[in-house]
Amino acid sequence: MSERAAEGAPTLLVATANQGKLRELRALIQGFSLISLRDVGIDDLDEPFADYRSNATAKALEASRRSGLLALADDSGLEVDALGGAPSWFSARFGGVHGRDQANRETLVAALDGVEAAARTARFRCCVAVADCKGPLGERVILGVGTCGGRVLDAPRGSGGFGYDPLLVPDGFDETLAELDESVKNSLSHRARAIVAVMPGLRAYVSASRGVRS
Ligand code: IMP
Repeated sequence: MSERAAEGAPTLLVATANQGKLRELRALIQGFSLISLRDVGIDDLDEPFADYRSNATAKALEASRRSGLLALADDSGLEVDALGGAPSWFSARFGGVHGRDQANRETLVAALDGVEAAARTARFRCCVAVADCKGPLGERVILGVGTCGGRVLDAPRGSGGFGYDPLLVPDGFDETLAELDESVKNSLSHRARAIVAVMPGLRAYVSASRGVRS
């Protein structure tokens, strides 16, 4: 297990192989003992659908089914208005190869070449799903969504975060998400907001279902 389990804290399997996401989720979720796919010997899971909700749901269900654990998955992406909302659910492979952050950023910068500052509006969107196939939830999931609006720069700035963070200046700030302190990103990000949305349902579910998992 990657972190010391809090006494009595329920185990929550986080269904991602993205280390940036994992680090953020560890900071955002309190009261659970988080483990990763690597801890249970599962490779990263497919995202076969063209929308966040279906991908998050499919990944949470598969991780829970295969591990027998309570599992949380997210699917997220960047929606750029000048690109008609792209790259959205294919953000992780905008540059051609899944998970190559620098290639993705370079593709975005090139796609927005010549677009004036005022037209560079965008938002990150995240959908989080929690599944517990062996518990009372069965094949249903608990869902939460969150967004974080801002504008896309014409060159990256900063070394924090991951993915498109060096290109996105969130509304109300002058720094990119890669320049802002991690705690600031975690107070306003799409992922933080999706977690805030899902936590009341997750906590209520866990207290109601204690002792009734098969
Ligand atoms: P997913 O694994 O399909 O959810 O891919 C999400 C992709 O969207 C990542 O690979 C990043 O390129 C981008 N993305 C999602 N969330 C963030 C974020 O918080 N910061 C920067 N990029 C992000």
